Amino acid sequence: MALSGLQIQKLLPGTNCKECGSSTCMAFAMKMAAKKAMLSECPYASEEAKKVLGMASEPPVKGVKIGTETVSPLGEETVMYRHEKTFVNKPVIAVNLDEGSDFALADKIKNYRPVRVGEELFVGAIAVTQKGDAKSFAEYCAKVYETTKLPLILRALDIASLDKASQAVAGSRSVLSGVTVEIAEEAVKIAKRDNQVLAVTAPDVDGIFDLTTKLKADGFNDLLIEFQTHSLAETFQTNSIARKAALKNNIKALGYASLRFINTGNEMDDTVAAVTEIDKFGGIVVLPGFDPAQLITLLTLRQNVYTDPQKPIQVEPKLYAIGEPNRKSPVFVTTNFSLTYFLVSGEIENSGISAWLVIPECEGFSVLTAWAAGKFSGASIAKFIKEINMESQVDTREIVIPGYVAQISGELEENMPGFKVLVGPGEAADMESFIKSVLVKK
Ligand code: SF4
Repeated sequence: MALSGLQIQKLLPGTNCKECGSSTCMAFAMKMAAKKAMLSECPYASEEAKKVLGMASEPPVKGVKIGTETVSPLGEETVMYRHEKTFVNKPVIAVNLDEGSDFALADKIKNYRPVRVGEELFVGAIAVTQKGDAKSFAEYCAKVYETTKLPLILRALDIASLDKASQAVAGSRSVLSGVTVEIAEEAVKIAKRDNQVLAVTAPDVDGIFDLTTKLKADGFNDLLIEFQTHSLAETFQTNSIARKAALKNNIKALGYASLRFINTGNEMDDTVAAVTEIDKFGGIVVLPGFDPAQLITLLTLRQNVYTDPQKPIQVEPKLYAIGEPNRKSPVFVTTNFSLTYFLVSGEIENSGISAWLVIPECEGFSVLTAWAAGKFSGASIAKFIKEINMESQVDTREIVIPGYVAQISGELEENMPGFKVLVGPGEAADMESFIKSVLVKK
């Protein structure tokens, strides 16, 4: 049952010390009631408050972790839309391996780790689909786990095979999928014995509701839900209904992360289905096979959707060396918004020159936003360059600014006597031709 701000406030210390970032305990209580603050942000919360509010502020979508060496948390979401606060745990993108597939493929999946905007992206789990008997399936699963150490999603033909395979990867926090009401009791025993997670399924939402309610009442709650839908529109609708029921109507029986196997038989349709899961509340999304082109698209989308809109991703403000610059190498400046930094540094690198890149503190804003907010001005850039004592490393007396803020060139020159300001391109993509036509020509 959700508590009101007034009820929460009565459980807080009442000292208005402001350490939680709110001006009063009442303001903090109102934020908690709106699910925009967590009790852990108040360092003086009593044990009683932790007990009462801990239960009341339990996320409406239950958190569960899969994996032990590569751990992926799921669930714990508190909002329908990212702009309300932030999404907490990104969906896990998994790849299916049919039993008997070459182990080299498992190795490829494990080693697929592209880096984008400073973040290493990876496949979070491997689903193994049974093709042989219980013994061969268990042996295959054990070998895949041994090779990858990724949590597995066991897709067995019957409960006996699920039992053997789970035992073969016991303690890996893998997922036993396709658990229907008929095999639920036995599956719970296996999951408890081997420390695994269960993905329960039923033909409709009511069936899932009954099954999760029963398992929770019986004391097992490490659950995922596997909806059985038959079209993209139905998937979209079902995911949305379940999330809304959990968040807005406090229906705990639907407050679990989901698992979905995708296999439409057409790669483009598979990608569209996976995009729908990532955009609309998916938990684990299993792709039918390993295709780096498809994966990078989906991992990039997930990175964009699951970036906290309140905290732009940013790089450390400092003087960066691109390549192996010397004291006479060109100097560029841009903001500390990660995407901007990686685009600009990448384009400088691609042009084949070595250079210095000044990244002042701009609170993670992009160039125009930082300039509009007064965080990327001639004065602030000059101040930062003095603070980092750039002159101790660099003799160059020219600095290239982004084309979109050509208007700060005069102010920057005024604040940096002896420096000449060059206006670079507006788009990072034009950096290479700028470097070749303006800098290298000199
Ligand atoms: Fe009140 Fe705790 Fe916030 Fe201090 S930190 S103002 S005691 S809620």
